[in-house]
Amino acid sequence: MTIVLNCIFARMNSEELQLVKELLSEPKSIVITPHKNPDGDAIGSSLALWHYLRQHNHNAQVIVPNDFPKFLKWMPGVDQILIFDKKKEASLKIIEKADLIFTLDFNDLGRIGAMKPAFENATADFVMIDHHQEPHSYARVTYSDVSMSSTCEMIYNFIEILGDRNRIDEKIAQCIYAGILTDTGSFKYPSTSSRTHRVVADLIDKGINCSSIQQMIFDTNTPDRLHLLGRALNNLVILKQYSTAYITLLQKDMDEFNFKKGDTEGFVNYGLTLEGIRFALIFIENGDEGYIKISLRSQGDFSVNEFARSHFNGGGHTNAAGGRSDLSMEETVEKFLQILEEYKEQLTP
Ligand code: 5GP
Ligand code: MN
Repeated sequence: MTIVLNCIFARMNSEELQLVKELLSEPKSIVITPHKNPDGDAIGSSLALWHYLRQHNHNAQVIVPNDFPKFLKWMPGVDQILIFDKKKEASLKIIEKADLIFTLDFNDLGRIGAMKPAFENATADFVMIDHHQEPHSYARVTYSDVSMSSTCEMIYNFIEILGDRNRIDEKIAQCIYAGILTDTGSFKYPSTSSRTHRVVADLIDKGINCSSIQQMIFDTNTPDRLHLLGRALNNLVILKQYSTAYITLLQKDMDEFNFKKGDTEGFVNYGLTLEGIRFALIFIENGDEGYIKISLRSQGDFSVNEFARSHFNGGGHTNAAGGRSDLSMEETVEKFLQILEEYKEQLTP
């Protein structure tokens, strides 16, 4: 009970906390996995937890479904990550033998792509730590809190609730900071609380260099990426009557500017910077896998989670969500415009 009161920020009941303590009471084989197309929060939370568990002599392994952008590859421990897509056999063996699997920054096994069957067949106990809406119930311990800025902030809480805040070293602090920074849009989004800033203050006290981390994440443009951004902005369509703006990018645009993973990160946000725009999207064609990836962002109470979940097989948060379409770009946009009409009342000021 005292421990729960020590960290009122971790919304975990005392039974769950007791169970986690028991599960971690002796060295175990542990797999840590974030969602497919991992972002800063996914990689940051996975590596922060990995460093922490290793301190406690667990045999931990981060396995990510597929590769991730270069601007995240400076994080301490990143070279120890196994990429399922590239090392399938080795990954499957480790998953099969695991005692415990932490799933981070997602809450539905549909979000890990080709790793799903291996997780469904695993004998390990699952622990979910996540801040997305509508968690599925596959885990023995579910630490889910949609009010949190990031899974990284939850990892901080998790370590704190286990009584180990003083074991957060500079490496763990760097990883947690990276995830909070990226998932809050540099402390801009409404989920950024006073507590988020207090956590970051503590991370700074652990010795991290914020400006160098920001540089490693954000100052990594290439001429190709800037030109691709130019194309994206050129393709921006503004639908004033729906307070909506969207961008389309075709595979041939991506090819023309030698697309590298992560190059389109943040493009969707430009639409929202327009005065009067409350709903912004980007549709990106993935020619190899034959679908359109959709990123959705909103301002205020218009829920892109609901929009993506209901119409585009996706989900996420109220103001940031993702989804997909198996139609062509033209058909996808047509479908989107039809659906948008249903939301006109919600979107008009
Ligand atoms: P992004 O647009 O940056 O890929 O994702 C925005 C948010 O929505 C992130 O929190 C991400 O985890 C979530 N998200 C992205 N794609 C999907 C999806 O296909 N399904 C669900 N449930 N969430 C998604
Ligand atoms: Mn996140």
